Amino acid sequence: MRVTFLGTGTSQGVPVINCDCGVCRSDNEYNRRMRTAVTVNTGTDILLIDTPPDLRTQLLKWPVPRIDAVLYTHSHADHILGVDEIRRFNYLQEQRMDVFAAGDTLDRLRTIFDYAFSEGELNYGIPNLKGHIVDSEFTVGRTVIVPVPLMHGKQQIFGFRIGDFAYCTDVSAIPQNSWNLLDGLEVLVLDALRLREHPTHFSLQQAIETAERIGAGKTWFTHMSHDIDHAKHSKLLPRNMAFAFDGLQLDL
Ligand SMILES: [Zn+2]
Ligand SMILES: [Zn+2]
Ligand SMILES: [Zn+2]
Repeated sequence: MRVTFLGTGTSQGVPVINCDCGVCRSDNEYNRRMRTAVTVNTGTDILLIDTPPDLRTQLLKWPVPRIDAVLYTHSHADHILGVDEIRRFNYLQEQRMDVFAAGDTLDRLRTIFDYAFSEGELNYGIPNLKGHIVDSEFTVGRTVIVPVPLMHGKQQIFGFRIGDFAYCTDVSAIPQNSWNLLDGLEVLVLDALRLREHPTHFSLQQAIETAERIGAGKTWFTHMSHDIDHAKHSKLLPRNMAFAFDGLQLDL
């Protein structure tokens, strides 16, 4: 299985427009972060988790030959606004794109992108999506996917576990019943927004403590703001934790 990070930045991206802080002005490319998403190639199936506004740029830099399904963590703008780029895959694959999400996320997608859920013949001027509500384990092709409920402030969203890999962005607390879904991981991806606490995201310290409790072989942090200087703050991390960066590829 190969995981490719298309973006590792918070909702505004890094650099932030018109910000002259040290990270935004940094010439370290690890401090340039597009909005958060990954592709997961299991060997048989290729999944895209979220469609951020940078998706076109991301898939030009780190292409995939096809996409078998899109999984949505939740419906915040930084995770959905690139959905129109799915048109290209409708055209190449000559079929609707299967989209998996919680019921409330799918409702929001249908409201915001009402034109994208048409039926009948494909229309290549718009994304052609087929929604699937998930609340428990499901499969795409030969790949088994376990949704992991996470708290993002007061909202419940999904992380996803595929084999011994789990992707948990936009999280500020792990619900009681989700810890056991994260047992025995080889690789965990976890939200670590910034140094100070935040109502809807883990701070770096909270992320480190959560990663220690989950105990994955390796934890990669994502969804970072311009608070996080890759080189400087990497020194604060335990040995089996690191900041992910755009273009990072992991082979499991
Ligand atoms: Zn986000
Ligand atoms: Zn800045
Ligand atoms: Zn969010």
